[in-house]
Amino acid sequence: MPNSAPFFIRLQQCTRLTDPACDDVVVQLSFSALAHQSLPTFIAGQYVRLRLPKQPELQGSYFALASSPNDTTTYDFVIKAMHPLSEALVNLAVGEEVEIEGPMGKGFDLSEHQGKNIILMGVGTGIAPLRSVWLDLIQHREDYGSISIYAGFLSAMHHLLTDELRSLADHNIQVSISLATGHDDWQDPVGYVQHALAGNQPSPENTVVCLAGMNVMVDACTETLLDLGFNEQQILLNF
Ligand SMILES: Cc1cc2nc3c(=O)[nH]c(=O)nc-3n(C[C@H](O)[C@H](O)[C@H](O)COP(=O)(O)OP(=O)(O)OC[C@H]3O[C@@H](n4cnc5c(N)ncnc54)[C@H](O)[C@@H]3O)c2cc1C
Repeated sequence: MPNSAPFFIRLQQCTRLTDPACDDVVVQLSFSALAHQSLPTFIAGQYVRLRLPKQPELQGSYFALASSPNDTTTYDFVIKAMHPLSEALVNLAVGEEVEIEGPMGKGFDLSEHQGKNIILMGVGTGIAPLRSVWLDLIQHREDYGSISIYAGFLSAMHHLLTDELRSLADHNIQVSISLATGHDDWQDPVGYVQHALAGNQPSPENTVVCLAGMNVMVDACTETLLDLGFNEQQILLNF
């Protein structure tokens, strides 16, 4: 259930994440609170329901918070134009207001897993809730063991936050980026994230895994993790 009654946020910035030549439009949207208001705190991995007050005919839909849970001034989202509401959101003008309900969902509460190794696995816009997790983890890096991220995207034109992902090496976080469709210059894995994970054979000992993506990916990753000796209590979902 949502933590609060619906409220409004204002768009501050819109950055396209996919290549301009790519047919898929994915953007990073950054919103701030309205004047004299603050944004509710949240747990990394939680999501909200967004609606457009100027287009009430468009049904509200769910989007994961992609910003740090330690930042109460900004809510970031990673949104792919898929249906009428997300199309309208990616075309929103700076300064426009959006109605928001939440945060909701259980999120990925890693505070009870301090001292453990952490694996984050996400594909497509599933990278959004994981971004809020890694932004939180780098502020508490010394509280955890090894941290690895397996991210999966469709192609090199879908470079969703890949520069930010690669910069996480500075925080001793290992990142593997899989492309479903590789190309001649691509040195990293080609295929799905569960194939990259199976190739690396991480030990399940003292390790938890956060999964975010479509159901088929969550199911396939769960099967691979169970094959590697992980148990279901070590596999965390944010909803
Ligand atoms: C609670 C909730 C939160 C949501 N949050 C957001 C959000 O923050 N932003 C948003 O835009 N939408 C969100 N949605 C909407 C939903 O995720 C949309 O369906 C989404 O836009 C689909 O786009 P995508 O980027 O995930 O897929 P695509 O861009 O099509 O990416 C697909 C990825 O999945 C990989 N893949 C495909 N098949 C498999 C497989 N079998 N195994 C492993 N990997 C595979 C591909 O290689 C590729 O990397 C949310 C929905 C809910 C219910």
